[in-house]
Amino acid sequence: SSYVAAENRYDDMQYRRCGTSGLMLPAVSLGLWHNFGDLHPGGTQRAVLRRAFDRGVTHFDLANNYGPPYGQAETNFGRIFASDLKPHRDELIISTKAGYDMWPGPYGQGGGSRKYLIASCDQSLKRMGLDYVDIFYSHRFDPDTPLEETMGALDHIVRSGRALYIGISSYDHEQTVRAAAIARDLGTPLLIHQPRYNMFDRWIEDDLLDTCEQEGMGVICFSPLAQGLLTTRYLSGIPRNSRVGMGSRHLRPENLDEQTMGTVRALNEIAMDRDQSLAQLALSWILREERITSVLVGASNVTQLDADIDALSGNQLTDDDLIRIETVLAE
Ligand code: NDP
Repeated sequence: SSYVAAENRYDDMQYRRCGTSGLMLPAVSLGLWHNFGDLHPGGTQRAVLRRAFDRGVTHFDLANNYGPPYGQAETNFGRIFASDLKPHRDELIISTKAGYDMWPGPYGQGGGSRKYLIASCDQSLKRMGLDYVDIFYSHRFDPDTPLEETMGALDHIVRSGRALYIGISSYDHEQTVRAAAIARDLGTPLLIHQPRYNMFDRWIEDDLLDTCEQEGMGVICFSPLAQGLLTTRYLSGIPRNSRVGMGSRHLRPENLDEQTMGTVRALNEIAMDRDQSLAQLALSWILREERITSVLVGASNVTQLDADIDALSGNQLTDDDLIRIETVLAE
């Protein structure tokens, strides 16, 4: 059926400024890593994207190798974009990335060479049927390529009209400082950093958050729910249609050990005391930090997406809540 976007789509979403840039991002953004390949029904993919847009989620995050198979998430997104979202192109921030292995031979194995990044960007645009992406990322730091080459390629991608902004993902503190300086000198400042951040992985608290603030960069956190661990998904076994149940390489049964599940159950108690779901608590907890621009959630259905967005209208975290959470995480 043809899609008519909800008229009230901007009424409730919160938008945060991305670093010191002119760009605002929704506090909840949608990632297409796992749930938009061949393993998930196309009808659900379309419903999730429509619902996201209808609720003010203006940012969709992709990468060259999202699937499975590699490239399929961009292809599927491109199809749904063409049928449903194309009239709204100027209301959308669409990002993609290159950094991991993608095609055979020495130029498609990932990293940060100019050859790989520019070719991959062109492939992504073609798969998605786009003239440009809003943000193009170096998906990971490449120790074997001069950072000047990688940043120079990103700068070229912007100057040639393939992207509006550039970002980096999973660069550490020192790599970020160097990348930001090179990009600034080239005249294409880094807009945003995309690190993993959730209750179970707090590495960015050491110095990356400070670094991004000093560099004027926004921060968008991936796997804010630890891929579903920080939800009720695995509280009573492994559902067949879950990421673990479907045999993901990235989340496995051994990640659901007793220690972890004990912590998850204790966090779930705190969430219930706050009249929230655990997923909502996990997202509220990240968004307590004002320097974080957005949480980048994955959702395998509309119900999950709705619940995740509803975290924004939940009760404020009190000091007491924060102390309880710290106590559980320290155990
Ligand atoms: P999350 O931590 O948000 O995990 C998403 C999964 O959690 C869903 O697939 C679903 O699991 C479960 N879930 C989500 N909401 C709920 C809910 N309300 N109740 C119960 N379960 C829920 O994020 P991802 O790991 O998927 O990563 C999000 C995005 O971040 C990616 O799509 C990608 O864009 C980006 N990313 C970037 C990386 C990088 O290197 N830059 C690396 C990884 C991700 P289920 O599928 O089992 O239903």
